[in-house]
Amino acid sequence: LLPVIYVITPTHARPQQKAELTRLKNVFLHVPALHWILVEDSEQKTGLVKHFLESGGISFTHLNVPTPKDWKLGENQPVWQKPRGVLQRNAGLDWLRSNFEPPASRAVVYFADDDNTYSTELFQEMRWTKKVSVWPVALVGGVMVERPKVTLSGKVNGWLTGWKPDRAFATDMAGFGINLDLLVNNPEAEFSLDSQKGFMESDFLEKIVKLHELEPKADMCTKVYIWHTRTEKPNMKDEEKLRKEGRPTNR
Ligand code: UDP
Ligand code: MN
Repeated sequence: LLPVIYVITPTHARPQQKAELTRLKNVFLHVPALHWILVEDSEQKTGLVKHFLESGGISFTHLNVPTPKDWKLGENQPVWQKPRGVLQRNAGLDWLRSNFEPPASRAVVYFADDDNTYSTELFQEMRWTKKVSVWPVALVGGVMVERPKVTLSGKVNGWLTGWKPDRAFATDMAGFGINLDLLVNNPEAEFSLDSQKGFMESDFLEKIVKLHELEPKADMCTKVYIWHTRTEKPNMKDEEKLRKEGRPTNR
């Protein structure tokens, strides 16, 4: 029996939201035993996401929690100024903790932002995670590929990244998978809005694992299976002109 992969995805409303979610779904459909926990950053669950999930094919849980207004990015505010998806990932963790007791049948938890690019190989790599698996992430940290440093004996002993390589765990959110038992056994481990800028992942991992316990995947961290892509903001300059004509529903 394959360990289930629980994918937690924070998502927020914007013109390209359904396109992003569709790109993810098209990959997840190829991955066996995957359960998608999609968490909307909103006061209410939206019809768009509800209908999208109900359109079929994927085992899912639909949650929502709004980011408090003070913590939302302004329209043209640079993204690094505020953390994103924090309460949504925690809501996913809460859901898992209230639904499972250890031993939670070797399941794995992965945090997948809605705009990245995921390969099917990535999920094969993470599936048999004992504690925490790690692998390279491309297009992040000011470099082509940010990755764990692995010794000849196969132990992680540091990080290769441009940005703040001295972080205890200098990885992006997309660079690790966690055994569900480890999360259920450490109920205090959550993401924090108060982490220093760029330290959200590192602070979280420090609560549950030691560097030498990390399991390097993707051929000892030499292969790229995930890209931290970001989508250009679409030009909506003439959208209002067409409003009166009605438009195809985005549902
Ligand atoms: N996100 C969110 N609320 C927001 C902004 C972002 O839930 O107000 C989600 C977003 O949909 C994505 C994740 O948080 O799944 C990370 O956001 P983003 O991709 O903008 O961050 P970056 O790629 O810059 O780290
Ligand atoms: Mn992103």
